[in-house]
Amino acid sequence: METFTSAWVRHRGKVEYGQEKVREAGPGEVRVRIKACGVCGTDIHFFKEFPDEQPVPLGHEVAGIIESTGPGVRAPGVGTSVVIQNHIPCGMCDACLNQRPDACGHIRTYMDTQAGMAEYLVVPAAMAIAFGGLDFASATLAEPVTVALDLCREAAIRMNDTVLIMGPGTIGLSCVPIVKRQGASLVVVAGHGLSSIRGAHRKTVATSLGADAFVDTTDKGWKEKLLASYPGGFDRVIVTSPPNTIADGIALAGFRSSIVFDGISYQDDSVTFGANDFHFQKKRLIASHAIPNWGFPQALGLLIDGTIDPKLLLTHRYPFNRLEQALQDYGSPDLEIIKIAIEI
Ligand SMILES: [Zn+2]
Ligand SMILES: [Zn+2]
Repeated sequence: METFTSAWVRHRGKVEYGQEKVREAGPGEVRVRIKACGVCGTDIHFFKEFPDEQPVPLGHEVAGIIESTGPGVRAPGVGTSVVIQNHIPCGMCDACLNQRPDACGHIRTYMDTQAGMAEYLVVPAAMAIAFGGLDFASATLAEPVTVALDLCREAAIRMNDTVLIMGPGTIGLSCVPIVKRQGASLVVVAGHGLSSIRGAHRKTVATSLGADAFVDTTDKGWKEKLLASYPGGFDRVIVTSPPNTIADGIALAGFRSSIVFDGISYQDDSVTFGANDFHFQKKRLIASHAIPNWGFPQALGLLIDGTIDPKLLLTHRYPFNRLEQALQDYGSPDLEIIKIAIEI
């Protein structure tokens, strides 16, 4: 019986490699030989904080090659390079048929039973999107770029808007060239710990991606200084930093502005902000959640044409047998890590 290796977390701080039986693609499915998988903050959470209960599969930013197809699959064919969406709508329910796939009650995912950090995935063919012109590790960036696309769509940037992006991770940094293309006249990126090697590198990358200024949120009085430089606040604020920073985003947003937030708190998720300012300044707080996935072709296009240069974001590549090291290194202040891809 042919088996393959997959990576799971069963106990905090430890990656376990499992051996699973390679299965045939069923009707409408494709079997993908995974070549690369991006490390995401969610993986770090599972690795470092997840309470010891059920085993959790790692990885959901996947690129690979179609190795076999099940009955009824016309495309993509065997040998095609693909990125794999992790959540797709059913396409058949009332919500889907009314062009509201995000309200679909039958969203399908592989993430509950299969690891993206593995040698194989078997998924519905509809999850696999063909691509060319990128190496596999770079192509894994398409997933976080779709998250950035959803934030920027919800932000509805208008010509010459001023934009503050909070959180210079892969998603926040990907938003910089997107909002510029949408018409933003000024983009400021806010992040913490600029004095570290990690922080200083993010500032450099934000600038390379088109940011006009960078502000360090560990500086005393950073908000007051920012408002002094940009009186009236920002037209749009995109928050990719933890929920407890939403209040800062609201405070820095201007009259009739939008604040768009994407993120999960694994600890306390309550947020406190001043409702009077929110009310009188007619601010709007919007949630983004790019599930089910959309925009993969657009994201791939931005990576291929260099609008979002993969080399700037994909700073590190580790082999599959060093996944645990990658998860440990991810948050280090002493490394210039933005995104790590595991090559499998
Ligand atoms: Zn992710
Ligand atoms: Zn549906």
